[in-house]
Amino acid sequence: MQTPNDLNLLNDKVWPASAARDGTGEIQIGGVGVGELASKYGTPLYVIDEDEFRSRLNQLNRAFTKPAREHGMKVRMYYAAKALLTTDIARWVQQEGYSIDVASGGELSVALAAGFEGPKIGLHGNNKSLSEISKAVTHGVNAIVIDSELEIERIASIAESNSVVQGVRLRVNSGVHASTHEYLATAREDQKFGIPLDQVESLVEVIRSHSSLRFLGLHSHIGSQIFVVDGFIEAARRLLQTHAKLAEKGEVPELNLGGGFGIAYVDNDKPVNIKEIGQRIVNNVASLAEEMGIKPPDLCFEPGRVIAGPSGVTLYNVGTIKDVEVSSEKGTAVRRYVSVDGGMSDNLRSSLYGAEYSASLASRATDAEPVLSRVVGKHCESGDVVVNHTYLPSDLAINELIAVPATGAYCFSLASNYNYLGRPPMASVRAGESTLLVRGETEQDMLARDEGYRTGKPNES
Ligand SMILES: *Cc1c(COP(=O)(O)O)cnc(C)c1O
Repeated sequence: MQTPNDLNLLNDKVWPASAARDGTGEIQIGGVGVGELASKYGTPLYVIDEDEFRSRLNQLNRAFTKPAREHGMKVRMYYAAKALLTTDIARWVQQEGYSIDVASGGELSVALAAGFEGPKIGLHGNNKSLSEISKAVTHGVNAIVIDSELEIERIASIAESNSVVQGVRLRVNSGVHASTHEYLATAREDQKFGIPLDQVESLVEVIRSHSSLRFLGLHSHIGSQIFVVDGFIEAARRLLQTHAKLAEKGEVPELNLGGGFGIAYVDNDKPVNIKEIGQRIVNNVASLAEEMGIKPPDLCFEPGRVIAGPSGVTLYNVGTIKDVEVSSEKGTAVRRYVSVDGGMSDNLRSSLYGAEYSASLASRATDAEPVLSRVVGKHCESGDVVVNHTYLPSDLAINELIAVPATGAYCFSLASNYNYLGRPPMASVRAGESTLLVRGETEQDMLARDEGYRTGKPNES
């Protein structure tokens, strides 16, 4: 890690495009000052830049749709709801022309509550309950992704008893696994999702034997936070070979290549170039289809993180600052621990995956010396880290606001109320205005689920 020259800079790779410091040095997001946001909604606070979120939806859509049109292919974009979902966010997604991909009955309910219609919803998951399948079928979801042989009968019989023909895709374990900077293509990957390629043809035959099912195509999702395009292309190549064989025996209108496009969390990360990823994937699929002598399929994608991640910033209030002496072979050094009023309950990614983030003093500008700091939460867990290493100014003081960018994806959705901390509120900002998306969870909310409290049992000892 390099010592930064200027702690006031907001790198646009990790911050929403609208983030800037005003004349006093305070950070503004979507034209709203962090001080105003914190006093209106409290901290911790998830802040979502609506314009950033919408423009990312559009950029990604264009990146795939433009090259696809040149090859006479259609593209269907699904937003992966699990990254970040509220009814307002689902409405933005819908207004920008996207379909939505849900992974549970709960996510399906939120999408429906936002006004999404079944034909613009896809449902996936490796263990969908009968009631989740029924709900999806009765709402006419466009596609259910079949994840195992067992599910074929399950979905077919539910569709049959509702007298509908249900569109289905088959999730394939292509053996391609992509992670951050590399991809591995192995014969068979050891994970719970999907069906090995060599079983696909026989299972599609079973699917096609059910008059209550309509086979739409193969589905693959090779991982998340991927920076290299090659993994997608290798997965597409493997799927297309089977797709071509399936097309000899019946229609295979589409190919779903999932999501997983990587973003920058810290200044050194190089986010995927969205335009390049669109062009390379689409052009490769088109030329592979031509080589194989098949009609190029329509393509589906399911981005989540790349849309939501860089649109979100979390605001925290600084509670305590402690310098801790750490010894190593090189001698002793001091590490500054900055404790904030949230932690692993609002951002689990650092403790769960060792994810990297950065933090900036948000309430004012500074020209103080940078100090290597660790931002930690207030939970009873030494692994309760929000930002493992970041430079904060030496004059950082108690009660000042710090901001952690790139927290829009998989932070709100992975939140818990460990230690009975209420999950934080989330507000959106746009053109100088803020809107509450989800209010903060109160102690009353948490107690309301507690039967001993609800039934008012006396304390008999
Ligand atoms: C999680 C998931 C996505 C979205 O992944 P991102 O990394 O957020 O883009 C898409 N499709 C499926 C099937 C998923 O499970």
